[in-house]
Amino acid sequence: MSQVRGNLFILSAPSGAGKSSLIKALLEKHTNMQVSVSHTTRDPRPGEENTVHYHFVSQDEFKQLINNNDFFEWAQVFDNYYGTSKAAIEKQLDAGIDVFLDIDWQGARQVRELAPEVTTIFILPPSKDELQSRLTNRGQDSAEVIAARMEKAQSETSHYDEYDYVVVNDDFDTAREEIATIVAATRLRLSTQKRKHGALIDELLK
Ligand code: GDP
Ligand code: ADP
Ligand code: 5GP
Repeated sequence: MSQVRGNLFILSAPSGAGKSSLIKALLEKHTNMQVSVSHTTRDPRPGEENTVHYHFVSQDEFKQLINNNDFFEWAQVFDNYYGTSKAAIEKQLDAGIDVFLDIDWQGARQVRELAPEVTTIFILPPSKDELQSRLTNRGQDSAEVIAARMEKAQSETSHYDEYDYVVVNDDFDTAREEIATIVAATRLRLSTQKRKHGALIDELLK
């Protein structure tokens, strides 16, 4: 069995729908998966660590990275810049590890152009009220930031039909298992299996 490049996944959702928690829970339960650590110009939230949750950089540093062509994709989300560096994903994919990108719809569009084989998943909250209370209960953003994110939720959600799969994050464990099923199915796709089991297929067709 030869080394096969990892699969790339995108998870998008309105802020507070549960992307980060779902990715974290998946990584705890399943092997051979990583999340890409983005660069951002926003301030760290309480408990967020540089290089673990994001690479926190200044606007000038972000612009320098753009000029150096270091980003796979980048976008302005809310009033900040966010981007996936090429370094954040290439090494892992080459090592056969599946990589999750927690990025917005603008980034997803760029990645689809660059890597059409990407598997994309949109997460919906079970209701607007529940989204509001998750943002509030997370207790990490100011009332002003929460109001801005609620206002943006509708425009992010309006892009749901550009994605391959839609998961409603009502019961957390159910949503996590649904995403795990999508990952399992992606790993069994013809294009992946052909590369992974090339020798077997050649032998069987001799
Ligand atoms: P959260 O949605 O509440 O977790 O807030 P974050 O500040 O973590 O993310 C803000 C937005 O930026 C979300 O829409 C993310 O999907 C998006 N985002 C995060 N990282 C990236 C990235 O590397 N590239 C792009 N294009 N968007 C990103
Ligand atoms: P995002 O990364 O999409 O902004 P988070 O993963 O930070 O969202 O989730 C927002 C908040 O909602 C967190 O406090 C998280 O613990 C909570 N949460 C996530 N999924 C569920 C769920 N299915 N039921 C209840 N609370 C949830
Ligand atoms: P937060 O500020 O709450 O961490 O993230 C806000 C939004 O930015 C989320 O929807 C998240 O998916 C998106 N985001 C985070 N990192 C990136 C990134 O690298 N690229 C893009 N395009 N969006 C990102």
